[in-house]
Amino acid sequence: MSRSLGIQAGRVCPECGREESVPIVWGMPSGDLFELAERGLVALGGCLLDPAGNPEWACGACGLSWGREGDPTADEQALADLLGVGWPDVVRVLGAGWRREDHGGNDGLQWFVSGEPAQLAVGVEAGRFVLARPLVDWGPRQDVVPPDGHRFTREDLQWFSSEVARAAEAIVSRRRRSFRWCATCRRPAAPEEFDRSEGMCASCLAVCERFDE
Ligand SMILES: [Zn+2]
Ligand SMILES: [Zn+2]
Repeated sequence: MSRSLGIQAGRVCPECGREESVPIVWGMPSGDLFELAERGLVALGGCLLDPAGNPEWACGACGLSWGREGDPTADEQALADLLGVGWPDVVRVLGAGWRREDHGGNDGLQWFVSGEPAQLAVGVEAGRFVLARPLVDWGPRQDVVPPDGHRFTREDLQWFSSEVARAAEAIVSRRRRSFRWCATCRRPAAPEEFDRSEGMCASCLAVCERFDE
């Protein structure tokens, strides 16, 4: 199964507004799936497959079955709304996986990042937006519009999408090149999350230090 198990981050139930939905697995369940369902990590949908598509998530709070694969999360929908375009336009030009990031600045922009570790940030204000590298080390400073911050418009996104996509890709590839591989969890780590002297990421380091005490 390609989807992640358990509570789906950012999937806010349209009925009760809670963020407690888990993926629904349709079809005849295997023994493993029964166990996952007992642990509350998936919901079992049953064998009746609807040719028009079955809902993807089950809300653990109110029981609603809802959503389709590829639907925007609440944050992603908010980003599309702020940009004034449809979600497919955002995916096509800027990609998916967006989550809101409040960096505490007063630049008047609403910031979103995507990627794990974060690779691209977009700051939006009234249909205009700026692309930036993720804001991780900007700290609690004020007025943090990036120095290279060219303001794009909604029209740029719709009619000059390849220019916007190129600008995004330039930031993303530069950022990816800065990643280090953690030899302990064997995952890429952002440079600000990586301890060079220990050769491991901050979360692995935290585990080791806890046991060293
Ligand atoms: Zn619900
Ligand atoms: Zn690690």
